Amino acid sequence: MRPFEYHRATSVDDVTAGQIIAGGTNLLDLMKIQVMTPSALVDISRLTGLSAIETEGDGLRIGALVTNSALAYDTRVRAGWPLLSRAILAGASAQIRNKATTGGNLLQRTRCPYFYDTSQACNKRSPGTGCAAQGGAGRMLALFGTSEHCLAAHPSDMATALAALGAEVEIHGTNGTRRVPVQDLYRAPADRPDRETILEAGT
Ligand SMILES: Cc1cc2nc3c(=O)[nH]c(=O)nc-3n(C[C@H](O)[C@H](O)[C@H](O)COP(=O)(O)OP(=O)(O)OC[C@H]3O[C@@H](n4cnc5c(N)ncnc54)[C@H](O)[C@@H]3O)c2cc1C
Ligand code: SF4
Repeated sequence: MRPFEYHRATSVDDVTAGQIIAGGTNLLDLMKIQVMTPSALVDISRLTGLSAIETEGDGLRIGALVTNSALAYDTRVRAGWPLLSRAILAGASAQIRNKATTGGNLLQRTRCPYFYDTSQACNKRSPGTGCAAQGGAGRMLALFGTSEHCLAAHPSDMATALAALGAEVEIHGTNGTRRVPVQDLYRAPADRPDRETILEAGT
């Protein structure tokens, strides 16, 4: 792993420039094989106020740091939104789900095998290098919304369930707070597969 600065955020306003790390179950794997090489990590795992599941009107407000296990086993989720609970429990392992967070799950990177193999061309990992998946093995790749530049699927089972349930994501940035439907958080690959979401630095 390459050297990097480490910063532990103590408040939301303290989240400075750098790659956010929450549970680390996806990011650390990618850093170990140098698919992601951030120069600075901002650890949000100790931030207060982001670990609760609160009732809001007829729905729930789920903090970005709520673990996948806590969400899947929440009695309100199991009774009212069993699709979400089942989607989460269908994935990963108990150990991973105990550490993985809601925000991290929604923003995890693709499982395209060529993205993980730094000897292969990948426009998502290294823009402009090509896409080794075109004509390659396609078991884990997308059927819809692809482009000539990328065929990758987003791997989050939670995102699929939340989109089906009409959930929204609340985005905090320097320009304030906005809410978007979960499915609108993500961008189709088009000619910029490296840009996976509508999130921009600081906004
Ligand atoms: C062995 C294994 C099997 C798995 N199987 C499945 C599966 O079957 N189905 C499935 O859906 N997932 C699966 N996963 C993925 C797992 O769900 C994710 O690794 C996990 O949810 C990521 O959460 P995290 O908190 O650890 O994220 P991290 O690794 O900390 O972060 C992931 C990404 O999200 C960003 N990020 C995290 N939190 C925030 C935030 N609040 N705001 C902005 N950016 C943020 C980080 O910068 C990083 O880019 C598997 C993972 C492993 C290791
Ligand atoms: S499908 Fe996307 S992630 Fe996979 S190799 Fe091609 S550009 Fe990279």
